[in-house]
This record gives sequence, structure tokens and C-alpha cells, in this order.
Amino acid sequence: MKKKKKEIIFSCPFCGSKTVEVIRTNENACWIRCHLCGGEAESHKSRTVAIKKWNRRKLPTPATHVVDIDKIYFPELTSKCKEAHHG
Ligand SMILES: [Zn+2]
Repeated sequence: MKKKKKEIIFSCPFCGSKTVEVIRTNENACWIRCHLCGGEAESHKSRTVAIKKWNRRKLPTPATHVVDIDKIYFPELTSKCKEAHHG
């Protein structure tokens, strides 16, 4: 199996900051927040979708610093790619 592409989180659409945070409060709520101005995108249980929601309002420059609370506090959620079965 090939590893999936590296995720790209774009810089803040509000202030242009290249430092962004991946926030997660529980397994159903992950979202991206600007470290500088606090601008946020919609939350989603999927990290991938949360990043997509943020990137929809992108400026065309990738963030250079990511404060990844998701991966720090919920490593087990980030490591599993997808669930094949329910229950
Ligand atoms: Zn910002």
C-alpha cells in the first residue's frame, strides 16, 4: 500500500498568517484555526474534511507552521486511515 499524499493546510484566509492550528476537542470535532488571528473554519469529525473546509477559503500559500493539537492529543485517531467496518 502506498502512503497517501502529504496533507496541505493553507495559510489563514483572514490575515495571511502561515501558522495554523489543527484543533480537536473530541473524536467528532476537528477544525483548523489561525494561530495569529483566531479565524476558524467549520469543524468536522474527519481531519481531512476539516482541512478541506479550511482550504476552501485559501490564500494560495501553504502554511509553514502547523500547531497540530489533533496529532498531539489524539494520535490514535490520526493514525488510522479509514474504518472498513462498523461494529
Ligand atoms: Zn489569521
